[in-house]
Amino acid sequence: MIFATRFAPSPTGPLHLGHAYSAILAHDMAQAAQGRFLLRIEDIDSSRARPEWEAQIYDDLAWLGLTWEKPVLRQSARLPAYRAVLTRLWALGLIYPCTCSRRDIAEAASAPQEGVAPAFGPDGLIYPGTCRHVPNPASPLPNAVLRLNMARALAGLPDPLTFTETGAGPNGETGQITLPHAMLLSEVGDIILARAQMGASYHLSVVLDDDHQGITLVPRGQDLFTATYIHVVLQKLLGLSTPAYHHHRLIRDEAGKRLAKRDDARAISLYRDEGKTPSDIRAMVGL
Ligand code: GLU
Ligand code: ZN
Repeated sequence: MIFATRFAPSPTGPLHLGHAYSAILAHDMAQAAQGRFLLRIEDIDSSRARPEWEAQIYDDLAWLGLTWEKPVLRQSARLPAYRAVLTRLWALGLIYPCTCSRRDIAEAASAPQEGVAPAFGPDGLIYPGTCRHVPNPASPLPNAVLRLNMARALAGLPDPLTFTETGAGPNGETGQITLPHAMLLSEVGDIILARAQMGASYHLSVVLDDDHQGITLVPRGQDLFTATYIHVVLQKLLGLSTPAYHHHRLIRDEAGKRLAKRDDARAISLYRDEGKTPSDIRAMVGL
């Protein structure tokens, strides 16, 4: 398999220094290995994705001196593929509809159960399992949130699951990372694989697309380290290969706060308008 990295921005705001760091890192790693560098536009959240932001992403990346394979994959073109996998998981009884509100989940999770405090996972509160035992309607897929039945999903998989980390997680985790089933059940749980408005969730689409694009190394921010636990479960469950992951440090502002899309003051385009050069941007992110 050819070494391949990717940068997968959501077109929901301007790219800032943190994105520049991820994109340059992925590009340079591919170049150093004489591999491929791919771009993917994660535009399935139609309430937030805008064509103007997508256009600006291409513009900013080109200005940074990056080149990527064409055509670019856009997630909005992949909805039938996501749907097909959801249908398969549904037929296998591995996903179930959930109608709980955030409040229902918070209440059920904090109900005094054997004195355990509510636990948080990659997606917030661990789902307490309220809808897991309701028999699924016969068909078709309901227009509701669909959750993975984690216990059933893990039943046929090796314990522990593993992946290779070539960067580091937030606590310095590196090398071969092991994910015991017991940890996945208590610290990840029945995560959402489909939302009514979006079809597939981020977790499902990112896994299917990394596979579809032949990605062998995923460089991305440390904030996604625990989301990788979910991605590894889905890869094993769907019989896909697991790429290596390279989680990198987050670029922070002067106050030490991590940059978010709303920090438009650090948008790459503004530095560019101020007369900074692409090498200034590399220096600012420490590359
Ligand atoms: N689209 C995601 C974001 O903008 C990145 C997903 C990933 O790198 O896996 O944060
Ligand atoms: Zn529910």
